[in-house]
Amino acid sequence: MSQLSESAIRDVVSQVLAQMQSLGTMPNIQTRPGKHGVFDDPEQAVAAARSGFEQLQKKGWAARIKIVELVKQMCVDNAERWGQIEFNETKIGRLAHKPAKLQGVKNVLGPEYLTPQGMSGDFGITMDEAAPWGVIVAITPLTHSVPTIAGNIVNMVAAGNSIVFNPHPGGAAVAALAIDEFNEAIKAETGISNLLCTIEKPSLDSFNALCTHEDVNMLCITGGPGVVDAAMKTGKRAICAGPGNPPVLVDDCSALDFDRVARDIITGGGFDNNLLCIGEKQIIAVGDSYQKTLAAMQRQGAVLLNAQQLEAIKKEVFDFKNGVGCGTPVLNRKWVGANPDALAKIAGLNIDASVEMLIAETDANDPFVQEEQMMPLLPIVRANDFSQGLSIAKQSEHGDKHSAMIHTMNVARMTEMGRAMDTTIFVKNGPCVAGLGMGGEGFISFSIATTTGEGITTPRTFTRYRRCTLVNNLNIV
Ligand code: NAD
Repeated sequence: MSQLSESAIRDVVSQVLAQMQSLGTMPNIQTRPGKHGVFDDPEQAVAAARSGFEQLQKKGWAARIKIVELVKQMCVDNAERWGQIEFNETKIGRLAHKPAKLQGVKNVLGPEYLTPQGMSGDFGITMDEAAPWGVIVAITPLTHSVPTIAGNIVNMVAAGNSIVFNPHPGGAAVAALAIDEFNEAIKAETGISNLLCTIEKPSLDSFNALCTHEDVNMLCITGGPGVVDAAMKTGKRAICAGPGNPPVLVDDCSALDFDRVARDIITGGGFDNNLLCIGEKQIIAVGDSYQKTLAAMQRQGAVLLNAQQLEAIKKEVFDFKNGVGCGTPVLNRKWVGANPDALAKIAGLNIDASVEMLIAETDANDPFVQEEQMMPLLPIVRANDFSQGLSIAKQSEHGDKHSAMIHTMNVARMTEMGRAMDTTIFVKNGPCVAGLGMGGEGFISFSIATTTGEGITTPRTFTRYRRCTLVNNLNIV
């Protein structure tokens, strides 16, 4: 019998280990001790997620349905606790609004949405089926760390995929905590391990390693312009849920209930201190509706800033590299999602912590109109007529094709604005959140694929369509 050298033995052992990993027979591939699916190394995370994908494939639809039910229920059960932990870590937004986002995950579409399409005729039968891609890398924002992760899980696992998350570094600890808890529950219910993986200390290096990894089949990006550009440059199939700057246009319409309009704007634009990408970011009011909206906003609890107060806040929350009024100001991210009372304090104004929104009169060129500032301070701009209002609204959205809102009883103007804006979400006579099924019809997702055009994501967004044809008269009719 020939003697094997030490290096040959090492080769055989590593081949066997690699085979076991790919077969999913080796649980917890160098995962952090006691943390299910939490990894330091992107390479390890992808290998683990590949094994998770193969385990899910073997367990079939029953496992997908079970996992989606589990994740939704855990979001409801842990809404307060995870909301508090996320708030403590990210330090942005409004604590009282955090649980609602997690509870909303129950309205994300699951496996029930994936119905195969069958065709039957003289030449036999054909099925078009929604197949999984495999391993998806998902990038999630600081603004909603666990809600985006949970919403992505529901859509992507419903479609039969596994996931590696590279969360925003500022929300990575709560992401790891939730992934660990989800995986532990999934393992207990289905026996599947590492279906969900995350990078414990995400970085640009881990982003690059994951997004260019040959064993990653698809990317899903939820974030601002920088990350969307970076992902699209990798050349991988990417679903991109990019930035927005949604305007709300209030028409000069005597039939409007302006208190209701104001309430809707505060509900959407004030939610989680304006962190929603769909949230109302600037008000454009036409003709007489300008004064009526301004008065109604204050009756509904918004605090109106004067010009000096606005200037003081502007100088703090934007960095004017070339001086005020020159060049593009850079957002000081320290103030993103800040409470209205904290913003007011910059201008020496003391207001109650319960105030949901600040408003200020500006022109259309103001940075608060032009930038996606994600603060509960809404600029209100006067337009002489509907046509001018629409052109201000369209310009301020910068072609992101994200979201827009209108308040009017004039159906022709609704249609005109809907066509002109060409946004993914267009809400008429309601708060922005109505476009995600909260106070309006429909379902929710925390990844609205604006840039790449898939829209509000569903399980179908994360599938490949495959056709299976059986030739000859084997159908029974
Ligand atoms: P962000 O762009 O700073 O970060 C988003 C994610 O991308 C994070 O994980 C971050 O670490 C990563 N990232 C940022 N720049 C990167 C780069 N150059 N290369 C690689 N990775 C990079 O955004 P944020 O502050 O976390 O979230 C707010 C932004 O996300 C807003 O622009 C908002 O409109 C957008 N958003 C969009 C949707 C949507 O569904 N369309 C949903 C939520 C948030």
